[in-house]
Amino acid sequence: MNGRQLSAAAKIKAPRGTFDVLAEQSAARAVLEARARAILEGAGYERIETPAFEATELFARGVGASTDIVQKEMFSLDDGGGRSLTLRPEGTAPVCRAYVEHGMHKRKQPVKLWYLSSFFRHERAQAGRYRQFWQVGAEALGSEDPSVDAESICLLAALLEEMGVVSVRLRLSSLGSLAARQEYREQLQAHLRAHIDTLSEDVRARIEHNPLRAFDSEHSGTRQALQGAPLLRDFLSAEDAEHFADVRARLDAAGVAYEIDPTLVRGLDYYTRTVFELTSDALGAQSGVGGGGRYDGLVEQLGGPPTPGIGWAAGIERILLAGTPTPAAFAPVDLFVAYEPSSGGWEDLPVYAPVRAFTLLSEARAAGLTAQMELAGRSLKGQLGFADTLGARYVAILGGDDGAGEVTLKDMSGGSQETLAADAVVHAVLRGLRTL
Ligand code: AMP
Repeated sequence: MNGRQLSAAAKIKAPRGTFDVLAEQSAARAVLEARARAILEGAGYERIETPAFEATELFARGVGASTDIVQKEMFSLDDGGGRSLTLRPEGTAPVCRAYVEHGMHKRKQPVKLWYLSSFFRHERAQAGRYRQFWQVGAEALGSEDPSVDAESICLLAALLEEMGVVSVRLRLSSLGSLAARQEYREQLQAHLRAHIDTLSEDVRARIEHNPLRAFDSEHSGTRQALQGAPLLRDFLSAEDAEHFADVRARLDAAGVAYEIDPTLVRGLDYYTRTVFELTSDALGAQSGVGGGGRYDGLVEQLGGPPTPGIGWAAGIERILLAGTPTPAAFAPVDLFVAYEPSSGGWEDLPVYAPVRAFTLLSEARAAGLTAQMELAGRSLKGQLGFADTLGARYVAILGGDDGAGEVTLKDMSGGSQETLAADAVVHAVLRGLRTL
């Protein structure tokens, strides 16, 4: 040693754009998950979990090679055998992959699935935009009935309402069939080329592969150029227009307010017919809370039979940011087991208080009580204070009885206490809780 102190190890922080879900936040998340489960399972959706990573080709083919997600937002890795894997950036393509892989088209249709998982996008991290984030999502596969579209939208609206998300706007549009979109694309490309000088760099670069994204641009020249642009709604086939009218009629019947936005284009290639997005003015720049749409060609594109589908995803962090905070709910503690720190010793195991405390803790839990015991070497006074902080209903105090096995049981709400044999404590607590 040269006399200099060894420097402390540098702290390692969570990677940029990621965050820890701490106890304070997990209560609100648990409430959100419980409400999503109640709403979605009540409507016949079953939970699905797909792997955190998939073959990169699933997203390249499913989400679309020209989309922002595939072009610049995927975290991809090599599996060591030359095959490219990608951390899932979205949930629809994986769910459709699972539908095909497990032959779900042979089940009664539609198959309705929901998920709550984390997703990964290599984005510029900022408030409300992360590189690992959570989404709750719902997908209904195997029916093109407009009632499925309306039901899907209503369920998301219901979830946001239950979570107290305020100032919600629902924007709605129809992208029509892929054929109509192709024809429209060509006309839009011609329009954009005619105004090329006023377009932003970004939009110019996308004319070839993703001209519809021009509608997402905030650039003033681009917005000006789009003033007289052709609109997709004028290209819808009669069936698509009727389907859209049917969806709207059902939303009207359900009393769900929406705005028709003919410029709404979702960032993914797979959408057909109905698309929608929900935003909240309670959020800042990242106002999108959730969105989705119909993807009638996707399952087929992934090697399955022609299968219509519709679904949505909503960001958990955004719902919680825009929603009403849920008071943290702590699990109630029925019994806290405290002990005299000085009582007994290793040499006298049967009366060694920590071991007796552990025995009582185990008995209490086996009987279905929620129980905790002293784990930090506090004084008896400190233990009682801690039990109070936990909101424990009863505290059992062991020791100080010369090993006679007696326990003092304190009712923390009434203040009364009694002395009992150790094996009578659980029964007394159960009886006390029943008479609450
Ligand atoms: P999208 O399918 O991209 O429209 O995403 C659906 C929802 O997921 C959005 O409305 C957001 O609430 C949420 N979301 C998407 N990307 C992110 C992100 N990078 N960070 C946090 N939430 C996100």
